Amino acid sequence: MTDFTMQKDAEGVAIITWDVPGKSMNVLSLEGAAELDALIGDALADEAVKGIVITSGKKDFAAGMDLNVIAGMRDNGGAQGVFDGIMSLHHSLRKIERAGMDPKTLKGGKPIASALPGTALGIGLELPLATHRIFAADNPKARIGLPEIMVGIFPGGGGTIRLSRKLGAMGAAPFLLEGKLSDPKKAKAAGLIDEVVADPVASAREWVLNASDADLVKPWDQKGYKMPGGEPFHPAGFMTFVGASAMVHGKTMGVYPAARALLSAVYEGAQVPFDQALKIEARWFTNVLMNPSSTAMIRSLFINKEALEKGANRPDAPDQKVARVGILGAGMMGAGIAYVSAMAGIQVVLIDAKQDAAEKGKAYSETLLDKAISRKKSTEEKKAEVLGRITATTDYAALEGCDLIVEAVFEDPGVKADVTAKAEAVIPQDAIFATNTSTLPISDLARASARPDQFIGIHFFSPVDKMLLVEIIKGRETGPRAVAKALDFVRQIRKTPIVVNDARFFYANRCIIPYINEGVRMVAEGVNPTLVENAAKMMGMPLGPLQLVDETSIDLGVKVAKATKAAMGDAYPDGTVDEVLFWMADEGRLGRKANAGFYAYDDKGKRQGLWEGLDAKYPRAGDQPDLHDIQHRLMFAQTLEAVRALEDGVLEDIREGDVGAILGWGFAPWSGGPFAWLDMLGAARAVEICDRLTAAHGERFAAPALLREMAAKGQGFYERFGAGKQAA
Ligand code: NAD
Repeated sequence: MTDFTMQKDAEGVAIITWDVPGKSMNVLSLEGAAELDALIGDALADEAVKGIVITSGKKDFAAGMDLNVIAGMRDNGGAQGVFDGIMSLHHSLRKIERAGMDPKTLKGGKPIASALPGTALGIGLELPLATHRIFAADNPKARIGLPEIMVGIFPGGGGTIRLSRKLGAMGAAPFLLEGKLSDPKKAKAAGLIDEVVADPVASAREWVLNASDADLVKPWDQKGYKMPGGEPFHPAGFMTFVGASAMVHGKTMGVYPAARALLSAVYEGAQVPFDQALKIEARWFTNVLMNPSSTAMIRSLFINKEALEKGANRPDAPDQKVARVGILGAGMMGAGIAYVSAMAGIQVVLIDAKQDAAEKGKAYSETLLDKAISRKKSTEEKKAEVLGRITATTDYAALEGCDLIVEAVFEDPGVKADVTAKAEAVIPQDAIFATNTSTLPISDLARASARPDQFIGIHFFSPVDKMLLVEIIKGRETGPRAVAKALDFVRQIRKTPIVVNDARFFYANRCIIPYINEGVRMVAEGVNPTLVENAAKMMGMPLGPLQLVDETSIDLGVKVAKATKAAMGDAYPDGTVDEVLFWMADEGRLGRKANAGFYAYDDKGKRQGLWEGLDAKYPRAGDQPDLHDIQHRLMFAQTLEAVRALEDGVLEDIREGDVGAILGWGFAPWSGGPFAWLDMLGAARAVEICDRLTAAHGERFAAPALLREMAAKGQGFYERFGAGKQAA
């Protein structure tokens, strides 16, 4: 099997085509890199070859490095293995860049151009950056950039050093530090690529046949090269680096090793010759790859996320792709579900009790599409096409032929039972019925169905168009085809599914609530609310617990608390929390939607800072707790609930627990999720912290039996429950 092939034509152009067999997208493996290196060596040595064009046999150029390979380099060779692997890649790319030219005169090299038919990401852009000219097809769907930072690493194939030298530290920052992706035209405007053309191979061919010696010399290989915007020791460059350093630290709170390492690689690399800088990049890359955070992030955000999206836990059933979905309830959730479904090419029947409510639900899609058009992300034709797929009506007869129903009416068992019966009277016998309830047990709602094995929970998060996670909940009687249908639907709308069993609040909400409650409880104790919020952010939580409850709304918190108390009776543990939440609700401070909550907001809804009224009601204790104590409380509140969900059998796969936590509520992504975080701590240390927290703050922190057992055996979660291993 060969990933790269080469053809030499009569005019002396060698076309190297990247086309990994059996894959829809090219990814670079170690074998592939060695093949490319050999072909380049051959073409450079062949006197008949005048120039080289590197392109792809697929519709896109490449998706990047195979992250499984990167993980393998580390697992097999440790730090030295990673460093050697990266350095050999650097040598290959440098060979392309120098193209056989005389190192002194910089003459006599062979022109090498890249021709990108579509998307070029990660090493798929780092390789072109090493060539002498980059031609991209005029394909607005193509994405060009270096997204490595999103999975906890940074561009380590020379991308960091080349791009910062090409664009300057400031110009390269959005691409390196934020993983910004651009379409070809924007990529050209930013200086990432050189040309956008109709036929990139033809243009690249033409270019290599006419290029001069000077065209091949990169700015950094020329005498007197200066980094655009200035090196770190130049006054302007100094300011850039001071600013960037503060910005990175402000954004990452110091918990993402990759961002800091990237900045160090650029800073240190800028002060030495190019080849030395590549070595520095390789060292920092190795450093990041050996950090447990990057292992955990790659595992959760890339390997496991992809495995779940590809149906790792899909029961064996024939294809259950959805052609026509019926959505009951055109409120906030129904309208969002209609939009993502129609965007995925599915016909949608959107039902509400009143015609104007149904129309309003459909209008939501129009608003989103108009916004996309104004940002040049969509077109009038696309809008007409998507809206044309949505039928807004009150007539249940329109549900005829729907193979899936998603119910999103009021959170009321009576209303839900009523619409279930009405829909089932019309839909085909084999259709699957899903409810989007957030709190009602699926098995109870399934009683209203004549086909409980075809009844399931598909729980979306708000806002539906932005949130990537979908929780699929199996009721007691839910059959495997319903699970397969839900998974195939989630795949169609390009979200990430987790499949859990039925229990109070399922998985995500079950873990979010204790996090919020712990923050609110601290306010009642007189802990400085700013300290609570910052402690959470310094652990890498995107929102502190008080901001989170403002976003989800305080009256919803009150409703959930009342329902939970009614269900639990005397065992209900959250009286202190309720006091605060009920008081806030009485004060009319319902959160962001009321422009008043734990935070103060201005007239336009912009968050101003924590509400001063909190101090009067809950005076600050003279003795404030230690930062770590607050952080442990906030993290263990969530994490122990995740462990209990595994113990109870709500979670069947810790991969789902970790991916779901990051995508569902932003659980400290640097950690790879609650189970990965516990593995970093070690079960024994986690139990020690639980014991201390229990003594100081109460039984809610008691270590679950499973965790104690694992501590005694010296086990880790991934060791015991990782891919393919049995759940608790
Ligand atoms: P919503 O009040 O915005 O929308 C409910 C819609 O259902 C309204 O448009 C209402 O007119 C319609 N409706 C009520 N009775 C009906 C009937 N008999 N026939 C047809 N339509 C009827 O509520 P929402 O926030 O969209 O929530 C809907 C469901 O999704 C609830 O079960 C809720 O628990 C769940 N959910 C909500 C969120 C969230 O963040 N809001 C998140 C996940 C799940």
